Amino acid sequence: MEEHYCWRCREVVPMVDETEYEELHRLFDECTHSVKEGGLDPDEGFKPLREAYSRLTGAKETHHDHLLEHRITAIGPPCTACGKPLRTPEAKLCAACGQFRLAARR
Ligand SMILES: [Zn+2]
Ligand SMILES: [Zn+2]
Repeated sequence: MEEHYCWRCREVVPMVDETEYEELHRLFDECTHSVKEGGLDPDEGFKPLREAYSRLTGAKETHHDHLLEHRITAIGPPCTACGKPLRTPEAKLCAACGQFRLAARR
């Protein structure tokens, strides 16, 4: 778990590493199944996923559609100008301040 700025939440939130993501992704599949096949209410069906996210990160529950986006590798490296993540690993410029990404930073 690491804390990073999430452009959608507009705040710094806990994001999961790849091991933690694997667990959440597996739960996401299971929960999707119980909603789609078992006819559970999405709020109820995705509860195990939201609880796992809270347990891993210590954060309050986040909407299940968005929670898998709190993944460290998915948000890209930090902007050289403002320090916010570039949103995607392939981003050419910073969505927050418009700074072009400098080549070969890593
Ligand atoms: Zn977010
Ligand atoms: Zn920036």
